[in-house]
Amino acid sequence: MTDCIFCKIVKGEIPSYKVYEDDKALAFLDIGPVNKGHTLIIPKEHHETVLDMPDELLAHISIITKKIAKGVMQGMEVKGFNIVQNNFKVSGQIIPHYHIHIIPRLEDDGLKTWPQGEYKENEAEEIVKKIKNSI
Ligand code: 5GP
Ligand code: ZN
Repeated sequence: MTDCIFCKIVKGEIPSYKVYEDDKALAFLDIGPVNKGHTLIIPKEHHETVLDMPDELLAHISIITKKIAKGVMQGMEVKGFNIVQNNFKVSGQIIPHYHIHIIPRLEDDGLKTWPQGEYKENEAEEIVKKIKNSI
C-alpha cells in the first residue's frame, strides 16, 4: 500500500532499526518504545488486521515472534516480555498494517495490566452462547 508507513519501511523508503529480516517478515525497533528494546514484527505483505492474514503467513509470523522474543529477552537481559497485537482503531491500532509488539518488561517499570471486571449472574453463559455461535 503506497501510503502505509510500514510498507514504506519494508521498501526502505523510511529508515528503521532492523533486528531481523527474511523473505516474508521484518522486525525492527518501535520508534516510541514502551521500554528499551520494544520490537515490532510485521509481514512484508500489507494486511490490516489478524483477520486479514493468510493462515500460512500468520503461522510464519508466530514462529518468528517466538525467535525474536527470545532474542529480545536475552539481548536486553530482562526476565519477561509482553506480546501485544492490536486490531482495529477501537483497540488502539494506529498503523493499519498487521504487527506484533514485543515489549520487554522490567520488575519496576510501573506498567499496569488492564483493569478487570466481573460477570453478573447468567451473563457469562449468555456471552459464551454469543461467541460460540459466531465461531
Ligand atoms: P499500534 O498502536 O498500531 O499497535 O502500534 C503502532 C506502533 O508503531 C506504535 O507503537 C508506534 O510507536 C510505532 N510506529 C509508528 N510509526 C513508526 C515509524 O515510522 N517507525 C517505527 N519504527 N515505529 C513506528
Ligand atoms: Zn502496509
